[in-house]
Amino acid sequence: MFRVLFCLVLLIAQSVEAKRVLVAGGAGFLGSHLCERLLERGDEVVCLDNLMTGSLRNIKSHKENPNFSFIDCDICEFTDSYHHYDEIYNLACPASPKKYQKDPLHTLRTNFIGTMNLLEIAKRNRAKFFQTSTSEVYGNPTQHPQPESYFGHVNPIGIRACYDEGKRVAETLCFEYYRQHGVAIKVVRIFNTYGPNMSPTDGRVVSNFIIQALTNQPITIYGDGSQTRSFCFVDDLIDGFLTFMDSDDNVTGPINLGNPMEVTVGELAEKIVAMTASRSVVHYLPLPQDDPVRRKPDLTTAQMSLGWNPYTSLTDGLGKTIHYFREQLRLQEKDKKRSLLGSCHEDNLSFTL
Ligand code: UDP
Repeated sequence: MFRVLFCLVLLIAQSVEAKRVLVAGGAGFLGSHLCERLLERGDEVVCLDNLMTGSLRNIKSHKENPNFSFIDCDICEFTDSYHHYDEIYNLACPASPKKYQKDPLHTLRTNFIGTMNLLEIAKRNRAKFFQTSTSEVYGNPTQHPQPESYFGHVNPIGIRACYDEGKRVAETLCFEYYRQHGVAIKVVRIFNTYGPNMSPTDGRVVSNFIIQALTNQPITIYGDGSQTRSFCFVDDLIDGFLTFMDSDDNVTGPINLGNPMEVTVGELAEKIVAMTASRSVVHYLPLPQDDPVRRKPDLTTAQMSLGWNPYTSLTDGLGKTIHYFREQLRLQEKDKKRSLLGSCHEDNLSFTL
């Protein structure tokens, strides 16, 4: 009897605390991990995604969860005047250079019109608004490591500008909605992140190198490989998101989240080849225009305001990511065999880079 009462109280307490959360871009790499964590803590999650770079495969496991729903829609077109949201996370935008440069005007539109659209919904709902900005707002930085106070060094007319300037204006929109309309905002600047659910074909360095290494194809290093990045494992980043969203309303950011361990692209290639025992050789290709030379977050604000630090080492994180891609390749092989036998398959996953 006592136990039944206790469970009832727990259920009521959970339903009072549970929030209705809109995750725009929820079928993408980071979004899918965020949805999972929110569901785990009992929130109701509405995942909004136009599936341009996201994948149903990433959210397949939530299909039967009554607290999860999916809306196939672009954030620029999304209207919802029926439902109430307590929190809105905006992760909706292609984030890899290869994908955001495919349709630059759409990238700009997503960041301006789409973000403004979601901010209007946040305003109407009095919802907290979480904007995923990026280290790209620093451009090719002249200050190292990059603190949030650094205004950046962005080429406004280059091929990366649709994303960099798009994300910069999205930050401006957030701060104007905060100042003019009192919307509670949280702006995070994400540095390079990797882990399971990365799209195998989006052209990022970690996914490219792992798939190339696992399939013994040449490792494509752009430039001479001396450019640096600092790679954060996805679980650490999502911890940071949740801590930031739950922080006081006066903590608006922008706050850098990432891992401060800086490596060159050449060192990353060597590490991945060694960890996969690959026979791949390195193939040098031209460095893309405006490719940042160095990047590393200054995490002082994250440490002081959120008490947040990343814990996963590059070796551990890469180990988990390699395991994920190995499994994906195995499934792809299985699918191929099945389709040769004439059966149809749900979604096609082709690892052509
Ligand atoms: N890069 C590379 N080979 C690849 C993909 C990327 O050498 O197959 C380089 C790219 O030029 C950049 C770094 O790796 O210097 C990180 O690229 P990514 O696209 O992952 O993210 P970025 O930090 O440039 O947004």
